[in-house]
Amino acid sequence: MKLYFFQAGILRSQKQYFTAGRGVGEPFDVPVPFFLMDHPEGYVLFDTGNAREVVDQKEKHWGDVVAAYDPVMTEDEWVVAAIRKIGVHPEEVKYVILSHLHLDHAGGVGHFPNAKYVVQREELCFAYVPDFYMKGAYIRKDFDKPVDWFILEGWQDDGFDVFGDNRIKVLFTPGHTPGHQSVLVNLDEEGSFLLTGDSCYTTENLNEDVLPGLVADPRSTVRTMQRIRMLRDRSVTVVTGHDPVAWSGFKKAPEFYC
Ligand SMILES: [Zn+2]
Repeated sequence: MKLYFFQAGILRSQKQYFTAGRGVGEPFDVPVPFFLMDHPEGYVLFDTGNAREVVDQKEKHWGDVVAAYDPVMTEDEWVVAAIRKIGVHPEEVKYVILSHLHLDHAGGVGHFPNAKYVVQREELCFAYVPDFYMKGAYIRKDFDKPVDWFILEGWQDDGFDVFGDNRIKVLFTPGHTPGHQSVLVNLDEEGSFLLTGDSCYTTENLNEDVLPGLVADPRSTVRTMQRIRMLRDRSVTVVTGHDPVAWSGFKKAPEFYC
């Protein structure tokens, strides 16, 4: 199995949105990651980055949120174009696992006609009726599509093994949003990778007990970060959600881990 790292451009933002109370007003540009796994039984995406509209009509598509998180993405960084560049057609994607449905993760929903979209039930519900402080981060037209949802039920389905061979497992990691999930990828040669999504933005959140700037539930965020640290202590490579420094150290497609 191969694991590819992609980047749907950046968000021009400020540091306090990623590390609560730290770096207030400090410019902070973060990557928007997504991932493709080439499994013997089919292609699996983890997250999909921003919607295609972000390339040339971001204010119209994202609205006021652009003031805090200004997306910069080129046409060829959009998920569909990006995977085509390594020879993968959208029709070939079997599963799209969504960490959560925020606008910089769910922008590709509906573009993979043969895929099952793996999402937590609680996330899907919250995305339709978010609490006021998170309304801007969900764009209903991005995910309100007649796709084949594959619903997971929180702790009951924690550790869901996508192909039943221990290679791609979905971990329930609530906190950032009520129905957030992460993916543990077990590679033959290069070991295990935890793709955290936004359950942990940066290494600083993890190492210095700093909450991310946007959380639905601080208590479960802390529990989730404890779990991530425990996996890291067991030699799992942790890939955080929006860390410009850590992200720069990983290989990007067309290179891959295997
Ligand atoms: Zn998010």
